[in-house]
Amino acid sequence: MIEKDTYKDKGARRLLVEELKQKGIIDTGVLNAILQVPRHLFIHKDFRFHAYQDKAFPIGEGQTISQPYTVAYQTQLLHIETNDRVLEIGTGSGYQAAVLIQMGAVLTTIERQEKLYQKTKKLLTQLEYKANFIAGDGSIGYAANGPYDKIIVTAGAPRVPEALLQQLKVGGILIIPVGNNLVQTMHTLIKKADGNIEDISLDQFRFVPLIGNQAW
Ligand code: SAM
Repeated sequence: MIEKDTYKDKGARRLLVEELKQKGIIDTGVLNAILQVPRHLFIHKDFRFHAYQDKAFPIGEGQTISQPYTVAYQTQLLHIETNDRVLEIGTGSGYQAAVLIQMGAVLTTIERQEKLYQKTKKLLTQLEYKANFIAGDGSIGYAANGPYDKIIVTAGAPRVPEALLQQLKVGGILIIPVGNNLVQTMHTLIKKADGNIEDISLDQFRFVPLIGNQAW
């Protein structure tokens, strides 16, 4: 059974949004989506009363739900517009997916852990967040639904997978943390009209590893 979204939860989300603003998130679309999406429904009930702290939590299978700041940071870089075709690699808890759908993205999301895939597909469907759920290795993308306006990778990669660049539209944006197993640098990659890729390095983060054919 799905838990309630109480006034207390809504109040806690308002405080979280204020905290994210102070940390530098300015995109009103992102902040509104974070205000709407009930994060407490995406984490284990043991963490229920910590859901609106700016923290990552375990979600099983050795994986985590990203910190709200990280979700907001990556989403802000995507510049989501209504009906953008978006590919997310690493469905995890489904929270990032819900934020993207809330912002009007037409989402394909891939998860390699079968149990998480099943659990999150069920939860997002119950909450009426509609997406194309794919079980498998997202490091090779998902060409069948591409090309994409935007691609977001929510696990740390050793390098940028070539397949993801191929599945990006001209003018499209890929956001991906790249580095070693301890620390990764966030990259924004933009596909130019001549096919060249502009690559901008940003802040450092720590993600669980992207595991797969074009990954670890
Ligand atoms: N977006 C998620 C959320 O909102 O909860 C973040 C989840 S976690 C930081 C990263 C996820 O990427 C994990 O669930 C992990 O199993 C998944 N993952 C790792 N390598 C993958 C791959 N090659 N393809 C798809 N998913 C992958």
